Amino acid sequence: MAFKLEYMNLDLKTIRKCIRCGNCRAVCPVFEEEGWESANTRGRIMIIKSLANGYNRSTEVLKSLNTCTTCGLCIENCPAGINPPNIVEAARRELASLGIMTEIQAELHRNILGAGNTFGDRLDRLAWLRDRRVLKKKADYIYFAGCLASFRYPETSSKAFEILSRFGATVLRNEQCCGSPLIRTGFDASPLIEHNLREIDRIGASVIVTGCAGCYTTLKNDYPRQIDVISISEFLADHLQEMELRRLNLQVTYHDPCHLGRMNKIYEKPRQLIEAICSFKEMETNRKDARCCGGGGGVRAGYKDLSLRLATRRLDDIPQGVDCIITSCPLCLRNLSDVSNDKKVMDIVELVALSIE
Ligand code: SF4
Ligand code: SF4
Repeated sequence: MAFKLEYMNLDLKTIRKCIRCGNCRAVCPVFEEEGWESANTRGRIMIIKSLANGYNRSTEVLKSLNTCTTCGLCIENCPAGINPPNIVEAARRELASLGIMTEIQAELHRNILGAGNTFGDRLDRLAWLRDRRVLKKKADYIYFAGCLASFRYPETSSKAFEILSRFGATVLRNEQCCGSPLIRTGFDASPLIEHNLREIDRIGASVIVTGCAGCYTTLKNDYPRQIDVISISEFLADHLQEMELRRLNLQVTYHDPCHLGRMNKIYEKPRQLIEAICSFKEMETNRKDARCCGGGGGVRAGYKDLSLRLATRRLDDIPQGVDCIITSCPLCLRNLSDVSNDKKVMDIVELVALSIE
């Protein structure tokens, strides 16, 4: 089935701004791995245009569009000032709405809408919470753990909440996936968004604190009304004086999660927090130029081998002499940990917890 661009949820004027200069080719980490034109930003935009002009869709089209990690490196290097990951996400939405998707996308969709989390897990999302009596009916702060931390890193969630509860935070009794995996892979996340907003309103909190870069950008930029969201590294950096941290004899580096750094410009607070605890060395690429870990945009779920190759490349940026890599996103943590043999990868919350113990 062919479809016309005017029917796509895309801003045609924006797409036409692409002057095919190819600057994005030079920075796209997926292109670096795969080497084919359809695996870089310019190729993806050409494909989206061609789809709109009636070319038959195929699994190759899905592979091109779905291997974008939405890392945003191309945004930083596009002289036309366009936002290619937004265009890619809009094209994924259009294809998904026509039923054109991979089996992995379909499974993700089923899991999240069926169970409220990425894994389709029916277990208790709050199993990491040691004592439910600490839950409050009203609070100023809510700790939003997210799917990955709730189900795969319960110790980190527990430590994050233990620290945040000193400042009066609570958690949602019935948190559900923030919607990020659905939105990034082309689906409507409104049932989850409406549910989470109702839960947030019930608590009456003014600020949502999250330890996941995907949850952060989704809550902040994709929810239909503005809510005050802050990443846990910002929150803790703002409360350094109240935490009585002791210094640790460690030298670490920091991996900027794309959806916290490049997409939301949160660069300094995680570094302030780390430097208050231990000695710090920058990675070879950092801040707006930081390489992607390869996990985002549904790539970890859909193309694991590619995702891990991107993570392996990121390890090349580790400076000499560091004991571990700190990050502030469970997806980056997972992807980097899976390929890092001799270097420990640690969530920034774990580092803070160590310095409090
Ligand atoms: S850098 Fe921007 S204008 Fe140049 S080819 Fe890529 S998307 Fe198009
Ligand atoms: S967002 Fe990242 S992976 Fe996607 S096209 Fe741009 S540089 Fe490539």
